[in-house]
Amino acid sequence: MNVYDSTRMADVLAPLGYEAVASPRGADMVILNTCHIREKAAEKVFSELGRLRAFKQERAAEGGEMLLAVAGCVAQAEGEEILRRAPQVDLVFGPQTYHRLPELVAKTARAGARHEGGGRGVLDIDFPAESKFDHLPEESAAPGAAAFVSVQEGCDKFCSFCVVPYTRGAEYSRPAAAVLEEARRLAAAGVQEITLLGQNVNAYHGEAEDGGTWSLGRLIRALAEIDGLTRLRYTTSHPLDMDDELIAAHAEEEKLMPYLHLPVQSGSDRILAAMNRRHSAADYLRIVERLRKARPDLALSSDFIVGFPGESDADFADTLKLVNEVGYAQAYSFKYSPRPGTPAAVEEAQLSEAVKAERLAGLQQLLGAQATAFNAACVGRDLPVLLERPGRKPGQLVGRSPYMQAVHVAVPEVALQRLTGALMTVHVEAAHPNSLAGRPIVDVGGVDESAASPAPTALTAPTARITA
Ligand code: SF4
Repeated sequence: MNVYDSTRMADVLAPLGYEAVASPRGADMVILNTCHIREKAAEKVFSELGRLRAFKQERAAEGGEMLLAVAGCVAQAEGEEILRRAPQVDLVFGPQTYHRLPELVAKTARAGARHEGGGRGVLDIDFPAESKFDHLPEESAAPGAAAFVSVQEGCDKFCSFCVVPYTRGAEYSRPAAAVLEEARRLAAAGVQEITLLGQNVNAYHGEAEDGGTWSLGRLIRALAEIDGLTRLRYTTSHPLDMDDELIAAHAEEEKLMPYLHLPVQSGSDRILAAMNRRHSAADYLRIVERLRKARPDLALSSDFIVGFPGESDADFADTLKLVNEVGYAQAYSFKYSPRPGTPAAVEEAQLSEAVKAERLAGLQQLLGAQATAFNAACVGRDLPVLLERPGRKPGQLVGRSPYMQAVHVAVPEVALQRLTGALMTVHVEAAHPNSLAGRPIVDVGGVDESAASPAPTALTAPTARITA
């Protein structure tokens, strides 16, 4: 979401003459686009602001000015505190107001510098009544083969550990017509894969042109009709919003990729209730069963929090049990760390770091083994891969498999440029914990343009399951 927001900020600023540069040193403006989900997010922002102060002073010594801005969820949550602790900051604005950047920049220019630190201290952390999406310009940067489209923002779920409802606000869905128009524009510019974004994306309920409301499943079906788009994905979902229409889309819509990030956080019903997740472990397993019935080769990913306040050994054992039952292709796992302002942060039964670390190591060992086994099961298969960009090594392109694995593909140096952006069938030769490696199944050394069309590949269910 922040990558998408940063690109859109650049679009909003382009008419003012700003363009992206590679380094903050010597820049006219630096925007730190922050995420509050990360552990110690605010402290990391303050430490980065200290580093940037040196660049701002350097610029001032040269007779220029660097406008220093903080955006995103840390800005939303800690706006006043940022201005108090970091007087070098000129502008603080939240995720819902970046469409106002031109006027904010003008307001900042009019504001006098504060004495200490040289920042101008302008703050805009409103939740405006107007939708920022109605005020954003068309994308100015040439997109690659894959792009994000934000369809939903905010969240009404109020999980007890999460700041999103406070920093991004209430759930909002963009009208379906606006999403379709953006997707058509991207497809016309050469984008083949679109990932639909939202903090709680499957809660999407966008206004439709017929006056009704579309669910995410309905939206995906309409997007799948757009010529040129070959792949659709969405993230991040809540189990409670996996409705019949969305599950049916997984069964019937070939363009919807067989990969789903479906956070569960814990396998213990007691902890799930304390987290205010509003579903049980059994509910989650039932949804997974329905999804796998709809799309047998569906690769699943999830988020886990270990060491939530009050989590016992038995609760943690329930999490391992759930992981064993589901079998994940990949996952993200974290030690619980309190987010100021959330109900869980003031729970008394906080666990020690040692217990959290030990549980996290155990969980990651199991999840790592499952991911490795899932990747190993792909060796020897021919998979369609969308080649998005050059890899780190010479003669290498990197793309994504249908299951979201990064795939490093060896191609002749001379063909690198021609094949970037191509959807190509790749024979998988090796698997690593976080990626695959392979080669095109056709000769791409010469000028054979047919290399850029994928041979039809039947996707079958991954066979490997690891349990502990
Ligand atoms: S559903 Fe996701 S975004 Fe919403 S409160 Fe829960 S964790 Fe946060």
